[in-house]
Amino acid sequence: MTQAYAALAADRPLAPFTLSRRALREDDVHIDILYCGVCHSDLHTARNEWRNTLYPCVPGHEIVGRVRSVGAAVQAFKAGDVVGVGCMVDSCGHCPACAEGEEQYCAETFSGTYNGPARREEGNTGGNTYGGYAQDIVVKESFVLRIGHPENQLAAVAPLLCAGITTYSPLHHWGVGPGSKVGIVGLGGLGHMGVKIARAMGATVTLFTTSPSKAADGLRLGAHEVCLSTDREQMKAHAGSLDFILNTVAAPHKLDAYLRLLKRDGTMTLVGIPAEPHPAWSIGTLITGRRQLAGSLIGGIRETQDMLDFCARHDIVSDIEMIAMRDINTAYERMLKSDVKYRFVIDMATL
Ligand code: NAP
Ligand code: ZN
Repeated sequence: MTQAYAALAADRPLAPFTLSRRALREDDVHIDILYCGVCHSDLHTARNEWRNTLYPCVPGHEIVGRVRSVGAAVQAFKAGDVVGVGCMVDSCGHCPACAEGEEQYCAETFSGTYNGPARREEGNTGGNTYGGYAQDIVVKESFVLRIGHPENQLAAVAPLLCAGITTYSPLHHWGVGPGSKVGIVGLGGLGHMGVKIARAMGATVTLFTTSPSKAADGLRLGAHEVCLSTDREQMKAHAGSLDFILNTVAAPHKLDAYLRLLKRDGTMTLVGIPAEPHPAWSIGTLITGRRQLAGSLIGGIRETQDMLDFCARHDIVSDIEMIAMRDINTAYERMLKSDVKYRFVIDMATL
């Protein structure tokens, strides 16, 4: 049996929970979890804010662990290897998106690391998948990632598996590089990775934050400039100046304030998924600069490996605050107050 933490209903705190993982198949990797990052999506899901949660819900999709054992046909991993698991554990494998390595856009929907749908018999989970707030996990080889960072950084690597790829993928897709002027909106788990990665890609980076207390950190993490988004004059000074904006905010807010900062043909990509919709934005803001508003979902497995390798080369990890498993509910409350610097990571030895 596997010890874990689960939400049993939207209005109940997470609590200890026992589950059984599926028996190892020939292409499976059995992983003892060392660390799991705490994503805002975990909170949205545990509380059914997207109205699609299957209970019991064991969140966690920023997993770093050590391989316990592998199935007979597994080639790439062996017992003792340090590996990662992100937001997906399976997909259909044959639709055009999967064929192109963009499993996150699988036509039959990918299998989330938690909240399903399960494609395989998953132990006692009733067709659901259970994530990384647990001692161990069994994952198909093709959804397991290699970790190139040194062993003493493993806890801080965990958030790369979601926050890292969710920011790397759109920055890469929209061609951010030397000469790009990039805005990152929100300095939370995703935002602080966005700042680090955009800077490492060679862009000129401006951080937009609602928290005056985060300005110094923004610069330390790699932003060339910090703009307090609640200050009209500071916002005005950036009008029409950016090629690309990555908006990571987890709550509804006025998008026009940021769309106006784009140059002609600039794009703002949303990755935050608030529980309620954003207020309607002005078509005028879009058409007067042929501006584009876009969205992006995590990243494919191949791209996630590219991101991990990129981060290892550039010595990029997350800035973390380590917590014990029993402190998860307090961590959720702090995350709601934007009071986290800049990702909680659960030390699974405390479970
Ligand atoms: P987080 O750590 O809580 O960070 C969100 C940041 O947004 C906060 O730190 C805060 O930054 C800003 N913010 C919060 N409330 C705000 C408000 N009312 N107005 C303006 N800014 C506000 O969350 P996260 O883990 O980075 O996740 C961010 C969002 O992305 C969540 O909705 C999550 O579900 C979603 N997500 C999407 C994907 C995807 O594939 N698209 C993947 C992972 C997560 P400041 O204090 O700097 O203003
Ligand atoms: Zn996530």
